[in-house]
Amino acid sequence: MGAIELKSVEKWFDELQVIKGVDLKIEDGEFVVFVGPSGCGKSTLLRIISGLEEASRGDILIDGNSVVSAPPSQRGLAMVFQSYALYPHMSVRENVGFGLKTAGKPKSEIQEKVDYAAGILKLDDYLDRRPKALSGGQRQRVAIGRAIVREPSAFLFDEPLSNLDAALRVEMRFEIAKLHQNLGSTMIYVTHDQVEAMTLADKIVVLSAGQIEQVGSPRELYEHPANLFVAQFIGSPK
Ligand code: ADP
Ligand code: MG
Repeated sequence: MGAIELKSVEKWFDELQVIKGVDLKIEDGEFVVFVGPSGCGKSTLLRIISGLEEASRGDILIDGNSVVSAPPSQRGLAMVFQSYALYPHMSVRENVGFGLKTAGKPKSEIQEKVDYAAGILKLDDYLDRRPKALSGGQRQRVAIGRAIVREPSAFLFDEPLSNLDAALRVEMRFEIAKLHQNLGSTMIYVTHDQVEAMTLADKIVVLSAGQIEQVGSPRELYEHPANLFVAQFIGSPK
């Protein structure tokens, strides 16, 4: 389960309105990409869904239940950031299992879930290392591992690859696509990179200045951009 619905969501920072009435339906298991230029409100919208930021108006439903007043921990979602903020003094195993440990889960369950995540992410051989002995891509995998062990109903990614070099970015993009195939979970992925959006998404949401310009499959957007902004942003010939 992981259907997410936004109803007339608005966000104001003092006098500045950064989200301007967003309506969106995300189906269970869908890979949805929020794309748009820097400052258009992608991160804010993702943070509102996760509960890290409060909506000024509107409603958010997860599997039909309003969560707009629920704290992040009660929404069943897991967020992966571009700055992966691993604990330097802990091993990979401890970093991945940390959330489960603080939630008081038994050791055997933590070990089982960490091993499962490590298998998916090809971290099996690195579980005893400290973060500083890992490559950028491996660190990003650890951050994703932390999300996997929590078994969220949806994964929220905010530009998870933007700190990586170009080659690693391509490799990790494939890894994330595979992760979606394996887990079948709902994923919302924020990027300003059109290529990432076009290759990963079932559905792309194009944002501009806090509003949705168009929602559609990569192909629909490419072939039938709703306006010049979408056409130019997606790089379609029209
Ligand atoms: P994006 O992720 O698309 O680059 P953001 O969601 O980070 O955009 O920001 C959208 C707008 O909201 C920007 O104008 C940004 O300056 C503003 N903004 C974001 N967070 C805050 C905040 N905590 N206080 C005031 N303004 C903010
Ligand atoms: Mg952002």
